[in-house]
Amino acid sequence: MEVITTNNLKKEYHESEVPVKALNGVNLTILDGEFTAIVGPSGSGKSTLLHLLGGLDRPTQGTVVIDKTDIGKLSSGEIIDFRLFNIGFVFQAYNLIPVLTAKENIEFIMMLQKVDKHQRRNRSLELLEAVGLKKRADHRPVQLSGGEQQRVAVARALASKPKFVLADEPTANLDSRSAENLLDLMAELNSKLKTTILFSTHDERVIKRARRVVSLLDGEVRDDSER
Ligand code: ADP
Ligand code: MG
Repeated sequence: MEVITTNNLKKEYHESEVPVKALNGVNLTILDGEFTAIVGPSGSGKSTLLHLLGGLDRPTQGTVVIDKTDIGKLSSGEIIDFRLFNIGFVFQAYNLIPVLTAKENIEFIMMLQKVDKHQRRNRSLELLEAVGLKKRADHRPVQLSGGEQQRVAVARALASKPKFVLADEPTANLDSRSAENLLDLMAELNSKLKTTILFSTHDERVIKRARRVVSLLDGEVRDDSER
């Protein structure tokens, strides 16, 4: 089943005098359960594409359909709710809330979803166990390594039971060992929990672990291959 479908997706930025064509007609279908890498050199449009798929920004032209909803038709208010219940995010810079513990960071998203306290606690501990950090439940982000923080971020992305997880260069700030561990974890969660995961990277070692690789160049899909 299709989780995400884009049709002739285009994005131009008009922040300088010369407009930048960041995406130039991307047609992409992501199926339920995929573990897919979006790859390409810096400036090829990876972040722009993930932002549009996640409803964090709107296209100049074209559509993004997520599980039958054309997100371009949602109001700004509706899109916030849609994101909360359908999409998990992992960012390059982890973006954990510094004053909250690992457990609280994971619970926070469920609080927004109005999940009751008991369920929140159980699910956050379950997820911390799944990412191998149960013992770090009460640590704040500064007390965790980069690799550990990103594992908490992955647990947080899964907390809302999203239809899919978007991870924009999740390993960019990690040393190569932590990067490989994180990818192994994401691959394991993908096969165990059947969560669809889409991540961007330009790291060869990370690319190797993807099942499908979509290559972008100058805002266009140049290659799309399964392995
Ligand atoms: P990647 O993530 O692959 O490095 P991006 O999607 O960030 O690529 O960028 C694609 C192109 O769009 C680049 O030329 C970049 O400079 C440009 N770009 C990205 N964001 C903006 C923005 N907010 N304003 C203007 N240009 C942007
Ligand atoms: Mg980027």
